[in-house]
Amino acid sequence: MAPSPSLNIPKSPSTVSVSVIETSSRIIAKTSVVVQPHIVGHDEFNCPCYSFLIGHQATGEKILFDLGIRKDPENLSPRTHAFTKAMSISSRVNVSDILGDEVSNISAIIWSHHHFDHIGDPSTFPPSTALVVGQGFKDEFLPGYPANQDSWIKESDYAGREFVELNFAEAGLKLGQYDAVDYFGDGSFYLLDCPGHTVAHIMGLARTTTDTFVLMAADCCHHGGEFRPSPYQPLPESIDLPVTAKGKLRPLRSPCPGSLFVKVHPKNSRTEAFYELNNPHNSDAVKEAMRSQRKLEEFDASEDVLVLTAHDSDAADVIDLYPKTVNGWKSKGWKQQLHWAFLHDFQVE
Ligand SMILES: [Zn+2]
Repeated sequence: MAPSPSLNIPKSPSTVSVSVIETSSRIIAKTSVVVQPHIVGHDEFNCPCYSFLIGHQATGEKILFDLGIRKDPENLSPRTHAFTKAMSISSRVNVSDILGDEVSNISAIIWSHHHFDHIGDPSTFPPSTALVVGQGFKDEFLPGYPANQDSWIKESDYAGREFVELNFAEAGLKLGQYDAVDYFGDGSFYLLDCPGHTVAHIMGLARTTTDTFVLMAADCCHHGGEFRPSPYQPLPESIDLPVTAKGKLRPLRSPCPGSLFVKVHPKNSRTEAFYELNNPHNSDAVKEAMRSQRKLEEFDASEDVLVLTAHDSDAADVIDLYPKTVNGWKSKGWKQQLHWAFLHDFQVE
């Protein structure tokens, strides 16, 4: 097993609270749209879209990381709405509906990237709520629709509010192998540049206690099989699969022999991720996205970092959701429970 790499996260006593909001958004899509090769039993993603409410303990300031799908997707920009036709999507409510009066206390919405399942509807927040995006976003996506009929976003997403683009080069900070910005300036919450999935794709790293963290990994990976197993956390001989409430769980033995999963692994490997990103056009961006996934494995290897992707379909069965916080995740053992939970998606016996 490779030693867990140093992540070089500066020490700090400052923390944030983190609540995971089940937005009610849902996406059903063929796995082959995103990953390859096909693994038996796993034909489609049926996944949630989490939003994260982050509370800065020192000042009480509250921000959101991602918003899920807006409840009226027909009002997305025409280009983005057309993009959603390749899958089945739904959302009963907006995050602003879930927050109620709390919307007036949200100082900023951070978009991990411009996709429909992350941008929600910022116009349902007051003008005092800023919009924050990754480096290169404005050049790529502005102006929004309708000024630019072909834009992925809408002018109403940012009109009348502060619209901030991060500058990683200026920040000069690196956590693990990702360029980073210290959002509050006190080490409690970082934004990480995670290139490849889209232009200006970013992740959030929240300090939940002085020495534990939650990594909001957005769409760096859509499924556990894209970054597990890894050289740092090989597939074990015997796996304690969590018995979660998830309806689709197959009746696997627990503990389950790791060899069953080595058999369905496309490379029969214990140390490489099950999936690669589908890259039919051999695009450099997808290759970059796969490099970003390898960097994620380094954070996942730390027992002090809980990695939560935006679409982790197991997380809601294991962790506490909004209005509760996930700050006590380490003592509750959630990382261990979630780590191999995705293996339930594969049919091994
Ligand atoms: Zn997404």
